[in-house]
Amino acid sequence: MKEENIVDILDYDRAHLWHPYTSMENPLPVYPVASAHGAYIELEDGRRLIDGMSSWWCAVHGYNHPVLNRAAKEQLDRMSHVMFGGLTHRPAVELAHRLVAMAPEGLEKVFYCDSGSVAVEVAVKMALQYMYTTGRPARNRLATIRSGYHGDTWHAMSVCDPVTGMHSIFSGRLPVQYFVERPSVRVGEAWRDADFEPMARLIEERHGELAAVIVEPVVQGAGGMWFYHPEYLRRLREYCDRYDVLLIADEIATGFGRTGRMFASEWAGVVPDIMCVGKAITGGYMSFAAVLATGRVAHGISHGEPGAFMHGPTFMGNPLACAVACASLDLLCADSLLPRIGQIEAALRRLLAPAAGLPGVADVRVLGAIGVIEMREPVDMADIQRRFVAEGIWVRPFGRLVYIMPPYIITDEELEALAGALVRVVEAL
Ligand SMILES: *Cc1c(COP(=O)(O)O)cnc(C)c1O
Repeated sequence: MKEENIVDILDYDRAHLWHPYTSMENPLPVYPVASAHGAYIELEDGRRLIDGMSSWWCAVHGYNHPVLNRAAKEQLDRMSHVMFGGLTHRPAVELAHRLVAMAPEGLEKVFYCDSGSVAVEVAVKMALQYMYTTGRPARNRLATIRSGYHGDTWHAMSVCDPVTGMHSIFSGRLPVQYFVERPSVRVGEAWRDADFEPMARLIEERHGELAAVIVEPVVQGAGGMWFYHPEYLRRLREYCDRYDVLLIADEIATGFGRTGRMFASEWAGVVPDIMCVGKAITGGYMSFAAVLATGRVAHGISHGEPGAFMHGPTFMGNPLACAVACASLDLLCADSLLPRIGQIEAALRRLLAPAAGLPGVADVRVLGAIGVIEMREPVDMADIQRRFVAEGIWVRPFGRLVYIMPPYIITDEELEALAGALVRVVEAL
């Protein structure tokens, strides 16, 4: 694109478009993208950046994947959408088959919705309606751990970290939930029973008010990029069973292989009562999510008044999204996928290790295809992004966290270039 056209785009964008978590009056710079292929994002000025973000956990197969493109085009010629009230279709049914087969055993009832945040709202509504229909309407609150992130809609926001989330602005209006400190024992460390104590105490004392505990299993994403010991999740499952509190696993970021298992709950061998998936489900092609529930939850909801689950988004079960999701899950189920993520993990450990010794760096951690460099001080976003783009990589830090979660199709050479440039930028800060 000609330089003056790029300037026009940026001027109009700056004047009229809100970007995520950004000021309308004084926005951070944005980079105009012309196209994206494989592990590369191509800017309008011709520069090519190796993608370190998978567009926020979504584009796990890279961009413009021929199999996903074909699935979308074939479905487009049949129908891109029909309503799901009173109608059904092959892509919705085939996707449910795949999800139920892949998910932890027992999660067998599937609710489709539009985005991750809506999936969290749906999961919360399911938990509250379940408690209502099974005769315990006073159990209408949620418990969670600090540093979580569950989305930007109302109830989802109420269980996000109270500090890094939006609580302070909306306090007094958001539903008030119970929080305990985040687990401190990491994946791979020796487990300490004391780590579960705060949650154990909360459930013992408050179970009469609790509908559910909601957590991101093992990996907390946008709230802190923290990897905690799977034993925490096993204990949580035990306590939820003992006190008849539902366990909601928010696998929207962790699902579909990112942590090295298909779902992060598998690290603990637990089956949640309700599980939210989204993000990578369509390989990053369109916004789509699903909530899986056990037969017990579905039965409880369906047998009490009003006899139905009270939710039904306009684009529920969108055929185009379902068709692409089927193709995306088929790619994920290839035998080579989890071993490849193991190789990416090993490479990230090796390539990011040099950052651990740098004076500005507090911690370096890796799990699956996620690599995190935690700085001692918050980074200057505009400055660090300019440096990353100059190095030919796309990385978007937040606060003190500089992290990468590349598409699974990244080659060894691309990964080496991405991580090498990342460490160089951090070193030069
Ligand atoms: C991104 C995310 C959400 C929200 O999903 P959206 O599609 O952005 O609404 C919820 N939970 C977790 C763990 C996420 O990472």
